[in-house]
Amino acid sequence: MTQMNITGRATRVAIISNNKYQSKRVASKLFATFKEDKDFYLSKKNPDIVISIGGDGMLLSAFHMYEKELDRVRFVGVHTGHLGFYTDYRDFEVDKLIENLRADKGEMISYPTLKVHITLEDGRIFTARAFNEATIKRIEKTMVADVIINKVKFERFRGDGLSVSTPTGSTAYNKSLGGAILHPTMEALQLTEISSINNRVYRTVGSSMIIPKKDHIEIVPKRQGVYTVSIDNKTMHYKNVVKVEYWIGSKTINFVATPFHTSFWERVKDAFIGDLDS
Ligand code: NAP
Ligand code: MN
Repeated sequence: MTQMNITGRATRVAIISNNKYQSKRVASKLFATFKEDKDFYLSKKNPDIVISIGGDGMLLSAFHMYEKELDRVRFVGVHTGHLGFYTDYRDFEVDKLIENLRADKGEMISYPTLKVHITLEDGRIFTARAFNEATIKRIEKTMVADVIINKVKFERFRGDGLSVSTPTGSTAYNKSLGGAILHPTMEALQLTEISSINNRVYRTVGSSMIIPKKDHIEIVPKRQGVYTVSIDNKTMHYKNVVKVEYWIGSKTINFVATPFHTSFWERVKDAFIGDLDS
């Protein structure tokens, strides 16, 4: 039986790996398997499936490599090390991955992504998409910014910065900032403070807030200067930012649905709690 995708040709597979010895071994095995197989075509260009080998950080890089092609690409993660959040297979489970890809019927699991617009004083607008989060910080002095949630001028923030996280990013930087863990199928953003100043004069809400899909977040810096904006693993510096807007994008990140998919709560436990004896 020849496995074809919906366009009637062999499934195009891109294999992306980090430089770890373990990852390269997994990549070679996949290369060798698919090279000999008429049902699959190895190509970094226009892939149907992207196999990311490494950790969650590697998957983050793979997402950004193909962020313009999210409509047609499905991702699969292989973790070399402990169980990752967005990596369904461990390195010793490659045979299982190959077997599942042969049986694949195109099913997917989709999670929301974050859309960001950065507007500068000279009128330029930079756009970005995040899989984990977007943060804005002011390094040289206290960041002073108005936080507007769905047109409501909510608070004047003073502190190091603010983070807006996707549900998938809730277990990453957001968690270190004291934010909640959200199941990745929830269509919501999380706004989390980075070291806010709270005293008799200055006031912020203090807790992180879960914002529904229909609501739009806007951060308006009140002082001129350089702002550091990070989108996942990339950091940019902008002078004179007028506003940064955030909302859940129309595009999702799609993963190959596998019978193997480990429960999200199992992953949370594995990452943060570990085994309990009693
Ligand atoms: P990194 O500093 O090399 O790794 C950050 C760590 O976060 C790695 O252990 C990575 O897991 C893990 N991670 C990434 N995405 C995750 C997710 N969605 N849920 C749970 N853990 C996750 O940086 P990187 O690999 O380039 O990743 C960039 C990310 O680092 C950012 O998106 C941000 O979330 C996070 N970050 C965290 C802090 C903090 O916690 N204080 C500060 C800055 C950035 P693997 O080992 O499996 O790759
Ligand atoms: Mn890891």
